[in-house]
Amino acid sequence: MKILVTGAAGFIGCHVTRYLLSRGDQVVGLDNVNDYYDVNLKLDRLKLIDSHEQASNFQFVKMDLADKEGMAKLFAEEQFDKVVHLAAQAGVRYSIENPHAYIDSNIVGFMNILEGCRHQQVKHLVYASSSSVYGANEEMPFSVHHNVDHPLSLYAATKKSNELMAHTYSSLYGLPTTGLRFFTVYGPWGRPDMALFLFTKNILAGKPIDVFNYGKHRRDFTYVDDIVEGVVRTLDKTATANPDWTGMSPDPGTSKAPWRVYNIGNNQPVELLTYISTLEEKLGKKAEMNLLPLQPGDVPDTYANVEDLVNDVDYKPSTTVAEGIDRFVQWYRDYYQA
Ligand code: NAD
Repeated sequence: MKILVTGAAGFIGCHVTRYLLSRGDQVVGLDNVNDYYDVNLKLDRLKLIDSHEQASNFQFVKMDLADKEGMAKLFAEEQFDKVVHLAAQAGVRYSIENPHAYIDSNIVGFMNILEGCRHQQVKHLVYASSSSVYGANEEMPFSVHHNVDHPLSLYAATKKSNELMAHTYSSLYGLPTTGLRFFTVYGPWGRPDMALFLFTKNILAGKPIDVFNYGKHRRDFTYVDDIVEGVVRTLDKTATANPDWTGMSPDPGTSKAPWRVYNIGNNQPVELLTYISTLEEKLGKKAEMNLLPLQPGDVPDTYANVEDLVNDVDYKPSTTVAEGIDRFVQWYRDYYQA
């Protein structure tokens, strides 16, 4: 199986790539290695992939998703069986001040992925959506069957748009697509702009941490290995339409190919203050906290209903927050010699 993984130098993309290599897939990894956060961390993730025992099955392409000609050429030259699309401009807060980056990577870039997949008749496109599409939805747990279309940030709006664009490509052009709404992913090689990384860095340096919404909001923190397992199970499953699937899907009578959207979370939301106290325990050090109000664009709580993914691909998140934070801290101490 030849698989394109976009965002391969990114946090989740690096883990997905290594998993696919381990089971013998051929992987082409694409990334523009941008400087949204520490480029060295991205380069080290690529080195980690290169050190994999199956690395001879890996090829890296440095390219921007928004490069229409480059992307078309890549798809024309390589016959990908399937695509895992993870490259995107991530981050809710950054989108408040930098809206254009989201349109370039997440809308224009996504369009180039859809076009490449359509022309090369890729068997399945699995792409990252986000829990942020739920906005201030108050119906808990969040279900894909709730009608949500009030994103609170441009980041969320681009992810919701991806789901709609994918719908058109599935129904009109017959491209099988699955969107996975990730819920706060954490783990080794994690992103420096995300809470767990920032908290760890500051606590170890004896600096205060900014705790928004006074630490009262709950997040369905999901360990990266559980996400990878769900992504790959989904990727494997769907080449053909399966009427028994329960995930949100269009009227089978009107769509040429399956289009689906699932939540992928831990299904066990944890209050931020509890998350921080688990981290303090693992670090053996107390945090000094700046308690601050909820930030613009941030959603108050997240909680994934994952029944559809459990039913359809036997998704089983198995890592507790205590285990996951422990593994993150071990990685962080080792990587940064901290
Ligand atoms: P990440 O930023 O670590 O990885 C994304 C990668 O994509 C980066 O390496 C970046 O260089 C690359 N990239 C960005 N724009 C690009 C472009 N225009 N062309 C080529 N490469 C580009 O983020 P991540 O945490 O690994 O997230 C992966 C996906 O999951 C993203 O789509 C993100 O929006 C989504 N997601 C992540 C989380 C989370 O908690 N980490 C939650 C919800 C959704």
